[in-house]
Amino acid sequence: MNFNAGPATLPLPALERARDELLDFAGSGMSVMEHSHRGKEYEAVHDEALALLRRLLAVPATHEILFLQGGASMQFALVPMSFLPPGGSADFVVTGAWSEKAHAEASAWAALAGASVRVAASTKEGGYRRVARPDEAKLDEGAAYVHWTTNETIHGVQYPEPVRFGRAPQVCDMSSDFLWRKVDVAPFSLVYGGAQKNIGPSGVTVVIGARDFVDRGRKDLPNILQYRAHAEANSLLNTPPTFGIYLVRNVLAWLEGLGGLDAIERRNRAKAAVLYGAIGADAGFYRCPVEEGSRSAMNVVFRLPSEELEKRFVDEAKKQGMVGLKGHRSVGGIRVSLYNAVEPGWVDALAQFMKDFARRAG
Ligand SMILES: *Cc1c(COP(=O)(O)O)cnc(C)c1O
Repeated sequence: MNFNAGPATLPLPALERARDELLDFAGSGMSVMEHSHRGKEYEAVHDEALALLRRLLAVPATHEILFLQGGASMQFALVPMSFLPPGGSADFVVTGAWSEKAHAEASAWAALAGASVRVAASTKEGGYRRVARPDEAKLDEGAAYVHWTTNETIHGVQYPEPVRFGRAPQVCDMSSDFLWRKVDVAPFSLVYGGAQKNIGPSGVTVVIGARDFVDRGRKDLPNILQYRAHAEANSLLNTPPTFGIYLVRNVLAWLEGLGGLDAIERRNRAKAAVLYGAIGADAGFYRCPVEEGSRSAMNVVFRLPSEELEKRFVDEAKKQGMVGLKGHRSVGGIRVSLYNAVEPGWVDALAQFMKDFARRAG
């Protein structure tokens, strides 16, 4: 029972398919990772992965889907390089560790480029215990874009519903918020996320960008750093992470077979309800630091009465086959990631363990 935050658990059928096809892909007598990225065998996988993503998320024709490398962290740098021009300014909504990092990387670029970045809203003061509302953000209506993070993986803080920060183009880090529920990407100018949270292995980064926004990106950067060039090349500008994209294909095919986003969303919401229910049932022992209305359905964080008990909790859970429960080293506590491939039965087992542990140790 793997509750890792990322890289995270993958659906067993997607892995079994990879195992079965490993030595002989599509009757070719070799593995998919030994094929040319320009050959028809790999290109079929590449195009199928893109098409599955477009279908599952109902991505409109106005938006490009890209498979890039370098993780979400690379996007922290590439977004300002492309879309924050000299003399321009970008707004940041800071609700946790990841949006802090995005802001820091954009600041480095702004200093080089003669541009600026602003913090339009931050919930750091309360210790990142909630999302920031659009009506409390001090937005610059002339901003080149506003960047925010829909789910803060470390702090367990998530926007429950889609929001919009002003009129500037919306750019979102959706790494740990990707493809667990239906989201209309049409209002966003650019969204991105590393695959290793919910849709595949590390090494693949998904970017969905509005064509007109992507076309407006800075044109004097090296080609490899321009979204436009990757879009024009169908994400085959240079050698893509072929095996990673193949695994993404397997995961997306599994998700579609399960009934798509409506089905997985019901399943994910039920898992989150079980876990928050277990925290609430022993509220004197377990404490979720995140305010109601901002609690993440993907990364559930909570504390026990002492760090010593938290360590014991993690150790005893491990003996019962549950791994990945230790909170991020920067915040401590417990973190349970409930991505798509986490089976409801695992969450039931964890909830039962929590109940027993609170009885024994509380
Ligand atoms: C994991 C994560 C990142 C960093 O992803 P990398 O692929 O390691 O660069 C950025 N933002 C969020 C919200 C994340 O969950």
